Amino acid sequence: MKKIGIVGATGSIGSQAIDVIKEYLDDFEVVFLSAYKNEEKLLNFKLQVNAKYAVLTGKQPENDEILFGEQELLRIIDNEEVDIVLSAAVGFSGLIPTYHSIKRGIDVALANKESLVTAGLILTKLASKTGCKIIPVDSEHSAIFQSMLGHQTEDLEKIILTASGGPFRNRPVDSLEFVEIEEALKHPNWKMGKKITVDSATMMNKGLELIEARFLFDVPVEKLDVVIHPESIVHSMVLFCDGSYIAQLGYPDMKIPIAYALSYPKRLNLKTKRIDFYRLSKLTFDKPDFTKYPCLKIAFDILKNDKSSYFIALNGANEIAVESFLNRNIKFIDIAKIIEEVLNLIEPKDVNSIEEIVEFDRYVREKTYYIIKKRFS
Ligand code: NDP
Ligand code: MG
Repeated sequence: MKKIGIVGATGSIGSQAIDVIKEYLDDFEVVFLSAYKNEEKLLNFKLQVNAKYAVLTGKQPENDEILFGEQELLRIIDNEEVDIVLSAAVGFSGLIPTYHSIKRGIDVALANKESLVTAGLILTKLASKTGCKIIPVDSEHSAIFQSMLGHQTEDLEKIILTASGGPFRNRPVDSLEFVEIEEALKHPNWKMGKKITVDSATMMNKGLELIEARFLFDVPVEKLDVVIHPESIVHSMVLFCDGSYIAQLGYPDMKIPIAYALSYPKRLNLKTKRIDFYRLSKLTFDKPDFTKYPCLKIAFDILKNDKSSYFIALNGANEIAVESFLNRNIKFIDIAKIIEEVLNLIEPKDVNSIEEIVEFDRYVREKTYYIIKKRFS
């Protein structure tokens, strides 16, 4: 039986993980679940999977079955016997629990890409020191991880991340100025939390995923590519030095990579939709347009410098810009402009400890708020 903990259990990823676990209650023992403010859903999940602990980190719970605070969550991660933590909180808030899990040598099923973006080198080095695995949940990285099994990194020529292109793939660039929140939140292929859905519309999601891949698979930017694939059937691919491509395919369903990360190296029997190749008329691929997706260009550019100050700044500025867009304070196209302005203020340097990252992230957020207030709202 695998002992499991879920950080961000009430979110889109967390809830789908609960669905998987409910079907396999003999395989998983749930040690803890955490959420931010959604106490009702957290309590329901606690009862459904018989979790030992449930922690709410964003507000004082009313029910005394629920514990309170991030310190309590970290105490559990630091002390309880856990085999794998599903890191599925949104944004920078996922970093500290992920760090504590890896520090203790607990395997991490990683959905929270922002923790690798902001602390990639620290987390991957620490994982090799403590001997734990970071198994990707992000569908692209799960595809790459699966395609790399049994192969050597030295033989890798390219990692090709696929991207759906989001809701604005066919929309003229000059009309992006008028994008409404509701339009940005309508993803064609995936149903996800709000932040990642907006990130998919700007394609900053793919930018974050490039950085995630750089650290997960330890490859330089020259070996990373993005291709638009609107059908989201090929979840990413790798090219080896002999011209051989290996890819992982499936209908878009996050339960597949979630279940794989939790049960790795085993696979679970899932009742997911199978591809009918007789009906699948075509798979199409296209080049991303940087004028439509400036956020993707920014991510490629900062990867050339490969400095953690830029990665942290990109992540923090993006989180604040997306939040401001969702609060109707800025326009959709301002997101990329704001990130660019923030990055212009940042010195390229290595930020070497988790404490410094937290401090630097705070500095970036203050700068971003200031820029938004002064020039964009
Ligand atoms: P959601 O917004 O659906 O869920 C977020 C979760 O994090 C909830 O449990 C929420 O708790 C919790 N949370 C929110 N704010 C905070 C905070 N300040 N501190 C701690 N916890 C917080 O997000 P998703 O499930 O869509 O995404 C989670 C992560 O997975 C992200 O990093 C995303 O990029 C990644 N991911 C998601 C995919 C998807 O299909 N959804 C695909 C690939 C990656 P509460 O409910 O109480 O607010
Ligand atoms: Mg993804």
